[in-house]
Amino acid sequence: MHRVLVHDADYSNCRQAVDAAFEMFPVSVAGKKVMIKPNALRASNAQQGIVTHHALVAAVVEKVVSLGAGSIIVGDNPGMMNYGDNEKTFKQTGMMEAAGGYYRNIGTDAVKVDFKPNYLQGRIDSISVSRAILEADVYISLPKFKTHGLSLLSGAIKNNYGIIPGALKARLHAVSGNPETFNRMLVDVYALRVPDLIIVDGVLGMEGNGPASVELREIGKILASDNGVAVDAVIAKMMGVSPEQVPLLVFAREKGLGNYDLKEIQVTGDASGIPGFKLPPMIAMADATPEDRLSFFTSRSSLRPKADEDLCTGCETCVEQCPVSALSMEGPLPVVDPAKCIACFCCQEMCPEQAIHLA
Ligand code: SF4
Ligand code: SF4
Repeated sequence: MHRVLVHDADYSNCRQAVDAAFEMFPVSVAGKKVMIKPNALRASNAQQGIVTHHALVAAVVEKVVSLGAGSIIVGDNPGMMNYGDNEKTFKQTGMMEAAGGYYRNIGTDAVKVDFKPNYLQGRIDSISVSRAILEADVYISLPKFKTHGLSLLSGAIKNNYGIIPGALKARLHAVSGNPETFNRMLVDVYALRVPDLIIVDGVLGMEGNGPASVELREIGKILASDNGVAVDAVIAKMMGVSPEQVPLLVFAREKGLGNYDLKEIQVTGDASGIPGFKLPPMIAMADATPEDRLSFFTSRSSLRPKADEDLCTGCETCVEQCPVSALSMEGPLPVVDPAKCIACFCCQEMCPEQAIHLA
């Protein structure tokens, strides 16, 4: 049976939850190479709730130092295309300081591994994964409790997409082609290096159309587990979704990575559903027939990004981050080429002004 801890917390007392997590899941870090990977989606301020809060990162770093870790790396691969944003992301989010001198840009050194799942039909045969992740003795993942427009939720499994350096993430988005394949691919990437311990920042969560939504929710919890499927299942339950409605979890169980069945998960703490939690549009496909699912994907796939002229600053981040170069500046605003766009919504995720809408 899997176990999941749900601990009350705020950002002034994360260390208590972290201590409880290590007590319940006593990973041995003494003398080991420890990798700590928060969700550092993009440069943003902590109060925007887009990335793992720096207070949790600091608490985990303090803990592994106190346990005598041999070496520590704190890092992630933010964004889609731009390796240079790594340091900027850690500085602006406060995670650089929280890392206490252990930050490293893990996007600059990667190892090529075989990756040729059938559903990608030969469009790719290998990918690169940050060496620091693959060579860690102990890998601690720190996801953010968020919704996600393509995977419904962003927790432990989705956080592992960041083990891949920037531009390759964009390429995988491009070759995956549709949300179903994208979810299968997320699970296969997760399986490349499953975390030993997962500690989720659910103090300030995100609802609505994540992972960069403006709709935030005070939840006041830190979750922990040694199994990503189990902790994501508990996140789903708290969001008000049955885990079997989350394709990511179904594919992960098929692959033998864990069980999402709540009867098989022992929860310590209060994992009650969050009243009125707002889910992304993808929830419409839960319980759908194959025909309805196809129609849902088709309708989503027909949406195209549009910049709000009142919010857009013309920074061109979306243009740089689009994996298929479907955006270009026309005057002060980015404009999409509908024929090239694959509806991955990366531009919406990466826009620092949250200026992109779908139409
Ligand atoms: S839509 Fe956002 S990312 Fe794109 S240019 Fe405008 S502000 Fe920058
Ligand atoms: S324009 Fe936006 S939604 Fe379309 S492919 Fe580029 S990043 Fe993805």
